[in-house]
Amino acid sequence: MTSSFKKILIANRAEIARRIIHACRELDIASVAIYSEEDAGSLYVKEASEAYLLNGSEIRETYLNIEQILQVAHKAGVDAIHPGYGFLSENAEFAQKCAEFGIKFIGPAPEALVKLGDKLSAKAIAHQAKVPTVPGYEGDIPQGEQLLQIAEKIGYPLLVKAAAGGGGKGMRLVTQAGELQEALLIAQREGLAYFGNDRVFIEKYLSEPRHIEVQILADEHGQVFHLFERECSMQRRHQKVIEEAPSPSISSQTRQALCEAAVRLAKAAQYSSAGTVEFIVDSQDQFYFLEVNTRLQVEHPVTESVTGIDLVQSQIAVAQGEKLDFQQSDIQLKGHAIECRLYAEDPENDFLPAEGVVGVLEEPHRPGVRIDSSLAEGQKILPIFDPMLAKLITFGATRQIALNKMQALLHDYTLLGIRHNIDFLNFLIQSNDFQSGHYHTHSVQPLLSEFQSLRASQSMPLSAWAVAALTSRSGKISNKTQKATMDSRSRAFQGFLSHFKNV
Ligand code: ADP
Repeated sequence: MTSSFKKILIANRAEIARRIIHACRELDIASVAIYSEEDAGSLYVKEASEAYLLNGSEIRETYLNIEQILQVAHKAGVDAIHPGYGFLSENAEFAQKCAEFGIKFIGPAPEALVKLGDKLSAKAIAHQAKVPTVPGYEGDIPQGEQLLQIAEKIGYPLLVKAAAGGGGKGMRLVTQAGELQEALLIAQREGLAYFGNDRVFIEKYLSEPRHIEVQILADEHGQVFHLFERECSMQRRHQKVIEEAPSPSISSQTRQALCEAAVRLAKAAQYSSAGTVEFIVDSQDQFYFLEVNTRLQVEHPVTESVTGIDLVQSQIAVAQGEKLDFQQSDIQLKGHAIECRLYAEDPENDFLPAEGVVGVLEEPHRPGVRIDSSLAEGQKILPIFDPMLAKLITFGATRQIALNKMQALLHDYTLLGIRHNIDFLNFLIQSNDFQSGHYHTHSVQPLLSEFQSLRASQSMPLSAWAVAALTSRSGKISNKTQKATMDSRSRAFQGFLSHFKNV
């Protein structure tokens, strides 16, 4: 039987909260925002049908506080909670407590969160579904000589990973036997500290792989569909910076095999809702399962752009008990989409998270451009939250059109008052690696070094430009000054990039 939600609470903040609020609006569902004091003036708080202030100053007391969020949900009389990504989105206890409160968790069942939240039990499901996994050792870690023999057999370099790890935490590279013990201890310690679980396993470290993931969508009636793949190999410190769909580097046979493997795995896990099956792919197009992200991904807009399917609305439909009314063959790839993650980080200072006040903001909205952002002039950017500020997405009939649009968007997007990575994003998309579509998970590091040394040698006027905005007393600079700084910036940056057209 299908139910119909009247009101949904969004257990999240910023751009993803806005994304879900907008989906609710289109479905005539009231939205409830929650916010901590720092977010009181945020756009998502203003746009929600209702908003509730959370008590507490630290994230664990606010956005991670299950009891408090459920109390608000109860008070607001919501039917369901959408957790977004991050925070409580993959927390099985939260999903379970929602059920106990009679509130639908918009995501997979708690059992699926438990099974797939642990990389080792997810690998076991992959084995069962005959999906290849990275060669390695998944048993209890022995001591001494026996451990060394296992590592020798896998071959160096290898990775030690925390079974419960995520976001690059609990992962350690081992290049030789002497580093193994310490890597195990650190991965165990991080697994325990961040995820409450010290189980670790060992994996072969593939050199220069690509990270390609498959979006899946499943309902509670046993149907599982794939929405094709996303290429996410532009990574810094194992975290994604630019994503695109479809992948420019795989054959249609590999695409089909990857997508079928993802569907098999999701079926074996009795999965429902939206999810992502992540793989790494070697230079021979051999792919290996990495993990399942049991939630909406940051990069979901590129998939929405090329399939025309609204993933948030589909998640809501599935949570309402609806049967997805399409066939796999109805889902077609159309065009090409690219997403750049705009981060508050300081290129002058090893890309450390930056803080400040948004002085001037101009987000160019035009055909083929989607900006998922929660930025507003006067907004304080604080380092307590994730440094991702916005997602800039372009879509075109071909990859080249999407790329050209992205280049123009990065050039015209104006954000003053806070240090950010737009120039670096521009540099990345203009590199030969990205332009050719032949890149892997280690492509960004050398480009980063080139970017930094070029900036140092050219003494870019950007820092002066950013500082002008930072020190502007009102936090805002006049249109004339802005135009002048933008023009000089544009000229300088084009000159700067022209050196690197052939990188
Ligand atoms: P997390 O859950 O912490 O994000 P993942 O297992 O998803 O960790 O891996 C994150 C990234 O680390 C991958 O996208 C890839 O770049 C790299 N990586 C993970 N496992 C391997 C491996 N076995 N060989 C090479 N790179 C890997």
